[in-house]
Amino acid sequence: MSQVHELVIVGAGPAGIATAVESYLQGVRDIVLLEKDENHNSTIRKYYKDNKRVDVDWRGQKVELDGNIYFIDGTKESTLDFFDEILQNHSVSLQTHVEVQSIEKKDDGSFEVFMAGKSVKAENVVVTIGRMGKPNKPTYKVPVSIKKKIGYTLDGCNEGEKILVVGGGDSAVEYAVDLSEKNDVSICYRRETFRRANPTNQENIADAIINKKVNPILGKNITALEDDEGRVKVVYTEIEPESYDRVIYAIGGTTPSAFLSSSGIEEADGKPVHNENYETNIKGLYVAGDITQESGGSIALGLNHGYAIACHIKGDCKVHK
Ligand SMILES: Cc1cc2nc3c(=O)[nH]c(=O)nc-3n(C[C@H](O)[C@H](O)[C@H](O)COP(=O)(O)OP(=O)(O)OC[C@H]3O[C@@H](n4cnc5c(N)ncnc54)[C@H](O)[C@@H]3O)c2cc1C
Repeated sequence: MSQVHELVIVGAGPAGIATAVESYLQGVRDIVLLEKDENHNSTIRKYYKDNKRVDVDWRGQKVELDGNIYFIDGTKESTLDFFDEILQNHSVSLQTHVEVQSIEKKDDGSFEVFMAGKSVKAENVVVTIGRMGKPNKPTYKVPVSIKKKIGYTLDGCNEGEKILVVGGGDSAVEYAVDLSEKNDVSICYRRETFRRANPTNQENIADAIINKKVNPILGKNITALEDDEGRVKVVYTEIEPESYDRVIYAIGGTTPSAFLSSSGIEEADGKPVHNENYETNIKGLYVAGDITQESGGSIALGLNHGYAIACHIKGDCKVHK
């Protein structure tokens, strides 16, 4: 009979790693962490720009850390190093290049976690796959001929390009300010202010706008994109269309509903249903991190979810509710 692991975690982002490390500290020794990408933390690697400042209080959310992981402000690089280190120090078996497709509860109460051509068994499963696997895309059509000029990260951006960033949260603001060092940048947001961004980012974007490094297009919506001889023509409400070399959408991610429903996890209001211990409608099957939030969480929130789950599975540690 194949081995039934004590704990299988799907997704090696901050919430998955925290669940693994906190569970180890509560005495769980048979932990398998499954990651579809080539390394842990694919959201941080792909979506954070190099040298990005990483704030513990992200999106203005002040989070008191409950668990044993001491996470502090840093950069993209120091944050990745930090996760490398805590993984190494807590003998978690990280398996990369494995995309989990679904999870099934068996009659004996254990779980079978399915990947392409194989499966693993577990007593408890935690799903921490985030929301950035599917970034939010525009609702209007993107002509095929300009698809390569549309992005959701800074990948592919070249120096000297005229770039439009769409969005008004922290990610959009950070992208616009960063790109403005070497490019002609505009930022389009449907609201009039950047109040969703944290205070530092609000200050940075205000400075960039005052110093004419970023051109604000506020309170406007985009209705269509057209091909303007290989450039992207953006059609706005109320103002004249404008063409850009590249358009970057930084408008968050979506709940992986297909994954959740194929595993029998119920959803309400765009989020998986769970109790205060992050256990779903299926006993022994948990959710943690961004996936539990309607519009994105933070690293610190994911760390707290991991601690709460570890406590529920194993220990009797105190969790601030
Ligand atoms: C541009 C940007 C800047 C940000 N800056 C900050 C900041 O400064 N401070 C902060 O606290 N937060 C920040 N955030 C938010 C923070 O990154 C997220 O809240 C955090 O990464 C969520 O952690 P998670 O573990 O829930 O999900 P994720 O980090 O998204 O990790 C999910 C992991 O699961 C893997 N996965 C997905 N599907 C599968 C599958 N089927 N099988 C196996 N593996 C799978 C993914 O590859 C990924 O590695 C930022 C987000 C963005 C996009």
